[in-house]
Amino acid sequence: MRILFIASEVEGLVKTGGLADVAYALPKELQKLGHDVRIVMPAYRSLNDIWVQWPKRQFSTKISHFKTETVEACYGAHEGIPVIAIDHPASFDRNGIYDDGQNAFYDNPYRFTVLTKAALDWCKLEEWRPDIVHANDWQSSLAGFFLNEHYRYDPFFSDTRSVLSIHNGAYQMHCDPNWLAQIGIDQRFYNPTDFEDNGHLNLLKGALGFADGVTTVSPGYAAELTTPIGGHGIDFKFRNLNRPIVGILNGCDYDQWNPETDPWLLAQFTTADDGGKARCKLGLQREMGLTIDAKVPLLATICRLVDQKGITYLIPVFKELMAQHNCQVAMLGSGDPLLVAQLEEIQQAYPDRFRFVNGYDAGLSHRIEAGSDAFLMPSIFEPCGLNQIYSLRYGTVPLVREVGGLQDSVCRLSNSERNLKSATGFMFTDMTETALLAETLRMLKVYEHKQTQWKAIQRNGMAKRFSWKKSACQYEAFYRLLLDSPKAVHPLAS
Ligand code: ADP
Repeated sequence: MRILFIASEVEGLVKTGGLADVAYALPKELQKLGHDVRIVMPAYRSLNDIWVQWPKRQFSTKISHFKTETVEACYGAHEGIPVIAIDHPASFDRNGIYDDGQNAFYDNPYRFTVLTKAALDWCKLEEWRPDIVHANDWQSSLAGFFLNEHYRYDPFFSDTRSVLSIHNGAYQMHCDPNWLAQIGIDQRFYNPTDFEDNGHLNLLKGALGFADGVTTVSPGYAAELTTPIGGHGIDFKFRNLNRPIVGILNGCDYDQWNPETDPWLLAQFTTADDGGKARCKLGLQREMGLTIDAKVPLLATICRLVDQKGITYLIPVFKELMAQHNCQVAMLGSGDPLLVAQLEEIQQAYPDRFRFVNGYDAGLSHRIEAGSDAFLMPSIFEPCGLNQIYSLRYGTVPLVREVGGLQDSVCRLSNSERNLKSATGFMFTDMTETALLAETLRMLKVYEHKQTQWKAIQRNGMAKRFSWKKSACQYEAFYRLLLDSPKAVHPLAS
């Protein structure tokens, strides 16, 4: 199959979250399966040094009735996958990807429409007829809409099917309806079923009705998106798609996340008891300025500091743990300044037991995964989540909330503790400080008093594999299903 993968970020080139991991790993695996995959992404300023050296081809792309843009396709490759970086200086030659560090760019709807439209027009320029156009998140979500509306009668795309993958349904791009005309959406689609959302234009919401198929990054999240609690305000759209939303769990890049080979670590290790993990723990305590103590349980968290990650109710649990219990915490994250201030306050009160590093640090994130005993992930919602999967591989026992991809990737230790052969971690359900604290204390008890059980859970987790090959095969089967089915036709189609 010819697969056009449109993404606003790609791991190794530019990354803010999980989408980048998928946009790197999935095309790579699909290519291994024998498919012809091209990634189209923006030529951001931060990548200037890379793509300015790539061969280029100029072409024009019609955005709306009023506006045609001249863009350049820069031809390169990333880890063996062909990449086309779309150079449009007015959109991408600026500091920042989605925002200037404080505020989202006001013209984001237009910038990413240029990307999406240029991706489709590039196919025509090269006469590279895609079987599948795979769009990702709101940024390229309009691909299905354009194929349905702007190119409906274009024979070039007559056999093409569109897929829209949701990596985080909370980001939908609500904007002023004045953008409608500028990004080529006819006014008749500005209705409550399609793009209108309480007086705003909602790009993701509208786009969902035009994709031939919609996927998300775990079966658990796919189910939650169709519910009022988990559907980010557009659950009815997820319930009324052209065909039911499919959840395909992300894989893990074990080339990067393997404790046996990880170059970021002080010591590599194959199992949690061969001494390597213990050395990593002491090294982490030293690096983070915590008291060096092999026995004290060391809990970790790494995440963006945003509401989604449940930090607001994790903070009081941290305070309680510091005040009443014998454990240490190593935390890495950046984001909300109010949360940063609260975490720094705990650090000041317990400097040798609680350490928070404010920033983004890839190497440290590997050393935290390797050196900690347990990993806390109390997310309010979690489309897939990666750190719990890394934790399993590194013998760091995950404690997660029963939500989204967390429930699909961690097997909880049951209350009766009878499932020791399969348990890989701990899980709680209610989004409350009380529930999180109770499960954390239960976990600490197992760590302190039942080391044989603890080791079994670690071993079970380290043996688990979440392979990208398996995920890629599921995407492949989904693409085939779409190609064997008629195209989706929107009721208001012209
Ligand atoms: P999300 O995509 O919602 O941020 P995921 O768990 O799916 O959450 O993926 C986050 C990725 O970003 C993981 O690889 C995680 O290790 C990494 N990450 C998040 N915050 C940091 C940080 N401050 N430093 C280093 N890596 C981070």
